[in-house]
Amino acid sequence: MSGGVCKRIVVAGGGTAGWMAAAAIARSMGPAASVTLVESDAIGTVGVGESTIPPLVTYNRLLGINEADFMRATNATFKLGILFDGWKNGRDRYFHSFGSTGNDHWAAGFQHYWLNGRTRGHDAPYDDYCLELVAALEGKFAHLPDNALNYAYQLDSTAYARFLRSMAEGDGTQRIEGRIAEVALDPERGDIAALVLDDGRRIEGDLFLDCTGFRALLIEGALHAGFEDWTHWLPCDSAIAVQTANAGPPVPYTRAMAHDAGWQWRIPLQHRTGNGLVWCSRYLSRDAALDRLMGNLEGTVLTEPNHLKFTTGARRRQWHRNCIAIGLSGGFMEPLESTSIHLIQRAILRLIRMLPLGAVNPSDVAEFNDQQLQDMEQIRDFLILHYKATERRDSPFWRQCAAMDVPDTLAQKMALFAETGRVFRRNEELFAENSWVQVMLGQGIVPRSWHPIAARLSDDELARLLGGIRERVTRTVAGLPGHAAYVARYCGAT
Ligand code: FAD
Repeated sequence: MSGGVCKRIVVAGGGTAGWMAAAAIARSMGPAASVTLVESDAIGTVGVGESTIPPLVTYNRLLGINEADFMRATNATFKLGILFDGWKNGRDRYFHSFGSTGNDHWAAGFQHYWLNGRTRGHDAPYDDYCLELVAALEGKFAHLPDNALNYAYQLDSTAYARFLRSMAEGDGTQRIEGRIAEVALDPERGDIAALVLDDGRRIEGDLFLDCTGFRALLIEGALHAGFEDWTHWLPCDSAIAVQTANAGPPVPYTRAMAHDAGWQWRIPLQHRTGNGLVWCSRYLSRDAALDRLMGNLEGTVLTEPNHLKFTTGARRRQWHRNCIAIGLSGGFMEPLESTSIHLIQRAILRLIRMLPLGAVNPSDVAEFNDQQLQDMEQIRDFLILHYKATERRDSPFWRQCAAMDVPDTLAQKMALFAETGRVFRRNEELFAENSWVQVMLGQGIVPRSWHPIAARLSDDELARLLGGIRERVTRTVAGLPGHAAYVARYCGAT
């Protein structure tokens, strides 16, 4: 945007992205900015998105949200990580937890001690040294002092949007119901001037947030920001979602079960379980995909299947002129590591940090675009890792994944780990070292060497270090309550 004063912020779309944005801006800016949100009940929302990652806990705290209220409203459970079934060879399983594993030394991560220990008779799996992981698999949870148990939520994102809507409206956001029929551009500057609804109403603004989902009505439909297609790296392009009744007490983790042309999710909430199949339409028909999903459900089916098509990739310019894409309008990568709602949150917090009341500085726009795209590329690489590092060759889908060329950034990371056991987190990357280590080990990359510092410990010292960590993990988990009972008590509390 050039020149004007960013006082009138118009949010187009009222899905999770729209209401997360409206709530955060209304709460942080107060009367300094007016927020108007336009949404269409007739069009509705994408209706999926249940698994999240730990930064959402911080986001809610920043907005001053009471956690128990939020969990009651969204039927949320706690999440300690993701259990991956069958990704390495079809029969394996591994866990990507949110915690750290073992104790890092300043010079070397814990994996170096663990790798060295394997040559000295310590054969306990890497998993045994992670509190979150062991607690998850035993179905335990509690809030521990100093956030010693790192967690996120499994939630109903439609209910989350509703919850945020009441907050945003309480903070002065004006909601307009109606269908956007046209995006009117300023004929001189080329910026967006107004949204025109199908009944002729015109909503003018200074800054427009495109939260219209896959439609991307403003950023692409009107401003043609461009799209970078990443399908050659992440070939899945279809999904079906269906909800079932809980077949048992909800567990504090999400499951991602690989199949021969994609994978299936299972996300337990308090009152039901979200299920879905993600697949590549080149290798599996829609009917076969539906059969596969329906044949692998637990619990009574509660909803009709929701079919979705998507193209994996990112909008080239996330902020273009006076329009910022937030949510699915900015791009989408499959929900394998539950990163979509996180990208919404990152975009909103980034925007608020760069939101001037006066003229927008083009350098802010350039910086925003660089940072946002870098986030997406780093997440993209992490997702590709799950497909590339596999021993599976049992279907054309997996053979394509194993044979594909990957981005240089990922190839370098995989080679470094395979050779030395080292991983480095660059530029505020979302996934920290231990996430990479867990997934690389889980997918079958075992480093050929490790940091020499690990070999400096005597046999006794190493045994004490490893034994001490495992003992602490076992003892702490033994003292934790069951997750389902804890959630019921916590949400029942006033
Ligand atoms: P939408 O929910 O589609 O909202 C778009 C809004 O724009 C709606 O209010 C709609 O009415 C409005 N709109 C559109 N056109 C018009 C118009 N012409 N006039 C007026 N209003 C209009 N994310 C996670 O973090 N974790 C997950 O586990 C996860 N799982 C997913 C699984 C699948 C298969 C898919 C496809 C996505 C998943 N996501 C997940 C992503 C998550 O669903 C989205 O990031 C999130 O719901 C935000 O969507 P949105 O608000 O951008 O779009």
